[in-house]
Amino acid sequence: MIRINENYTKLKASYLFSDIAKRVTAYTQANPSKPVIRLGIGDVTEPLPAVCIEALHQATDEMAVRSSFKGYGPEQGYAFLREAIAQHDYAGRGCAIDADEIFVSDGSKCDCGNIQEIFATEGLRLAIPDPVYPVYVDTNVMAGRTGNNVNGRYEGITYLESTPANGYVPSVPTVGADLIYLCFPNNPTGAVATRAQLEAWVAYAQKNQAIILFDSAYEAYIRNPEIPHSIYEIPGAREVAIEFRSFSKTAGFTGTRCAYTVVPKSLQAFDSTGRPHSVHALWNRRHTTKFNGVSYPVQKAAAAIFTPAGQQQVKAMTDFYLANAALIRTAMTKLGFGCVGGDNAPYIWINTGRDSWEFFDLLLNHAQVVCTPGAGFGKCGEGHVRISAFNSRANVEQALERIASALR
Ligand SMILES: *Cc1c(COP(=O)(O)O)cnc(C)c1O
Repeated sequence: MIRINENYTKLKASYLFSDIAKRVTAYTQANPSKPVIRLGIGDVTEPLPAVCIEALHQATDEMAVRSSFKGYGPEQGYAFLREAIAQHDYAGRGCAIDADEIFVSDGSKCDCGNIQEIFATEGLRLAIPDPVYPVYVDTNVMAGRTGNNVNGRYEGITYLESTPANGYVPSVPTVGADLIYLCFPNNPTGAVATRAQLEAWVAYAQKNQAIILFDSAYEAYIRNPEIPHSIYEIPGAREVAIEFRSFSKTAGFTGTRCAYTVVPKSLQAFDSTGRPHSVHALWNRRHTTKFNGVSYPVQKAAAAIFTPAGQQQVKAMTDFYLANAALIRTAMTKLGFGCVGGDNAPYIWINTGRDSWEFFDLLLNHAQVVCTPGAGFGKCGEGHVRISAFNSRANVEQALERIASALR
């Protein structure tokens, strides 16, 4: 008899986005004359930078000719892209990362979900932020590293709580951990970690012989020059950290698909006898066994971002979303809400002072604006909502006017 992986039955079904869709549909059907504005989505809205479109067209033409046609490429990505990443994203910020420490992939969601495969299942101690991107918790549940979900929390995880009291940046726990997930700028809170805060995490990982999985999908939104863009800006991080980056939010690639993971060759993990192994070698084995590379045209489009024109276009796009974010944060602050994010991230996290679904309904019914209830991102998300800056200026301005008159 074929049996299932029973760990899947421990997963709490995420009704967040389907619940939102249901409430929005019910509202629009009852109120067809009142159009809603969606500031709930975590997806970009603006078209790809012009340099990417040009590169896609050119690469497509190359594929049309026998002499320049490309079949399978290197699983880890073409050298032209890995070298451009090493140069611009790392050497340019003083981080010593070699091109062959970069693994190009079709998304950070898969990378942060898949990475746990190369680590032990039994006895591995996990530390995961709350609230955060749900992928980190759910993939560990699937792998059998947790117990059951009791009152909204899985047994066997140390939850790193982000609350108003700690400015939504959790400090290192008093208990030990082996695998630590961090996401800065954070989804959903938009909070960023200072150099000193990241230094404390690197020191904690060193002390525990642990590994930090650092998700910096939103690093392109950092504007404060004091805030590190990469964990490798912290001395010692090459020995304790893996970093995930994506072109999705940086350059509007959510539908185009390209990302990368950095696994330094100096990173080690241990077997049951305490013998060290190269994490780079393990990930290389996993990646080349289960993945066949990102398409050539998409890698050409990603590489185009690193040209001077590409850098300018990406800056203009992220500036545009950040200007939306500034409008949202200013307006919500003016209405008396405590807010974080929006200055170095495209999300604003609003302390509503009441149940997050109640506030969601209030905005939907009285302002025709859709936000995301914080409770969907973890227990500490209760009492908060996320407003996204991914939208047109006109929609953001209109949404804020409606919110102001609804709450005034
Ligand atoms: C959007 C996002 C990603 C990127 O995912 P892709 O699969 O590369 O599109 C990664 N991490 C977080 C926290 C995100 O919000």
